[in-house]
Amino acid sequence: MALKYKQKCIRCKKNYVLATSRQNYVICYECQENELKGNIKDEKMKKFFNIPHKYYKENAFLRNIKINYLKYHSLSEKQIEAFKKTVKQMREDARENK
Ligand SMILES: [Zn+2]
Repeated sequence: MALKYKQKCIRCKKNYVLATSRQNYVICYECQENELKGNIKDEKMKKFFNIPHKYYKENAFLRNIKINYLKYHSLSEKQIEAFKKTVKQMREDARENK
């Protein structure tokens, strides 16, 4: 599993966000909440992003992917793969912690 550590949100400089070493900067959920609210028209992508809301709360990477999609209406194959992998990992972690 990737190493995780807490980093201060670069926008509000108040909240801490759980980040992996791959993320150079992070923005907290509160700061991104409005950006996550866009409407997805593509049925396939709607389904793709239809994961438990708390995953977006907990994971800055998932938020960034969704916001990226809402902005540019496309994702690279790499982004899609990474998103799926992260969701899978979170599901597995949730099972283990029960
Ligand atoms: Zn913030």
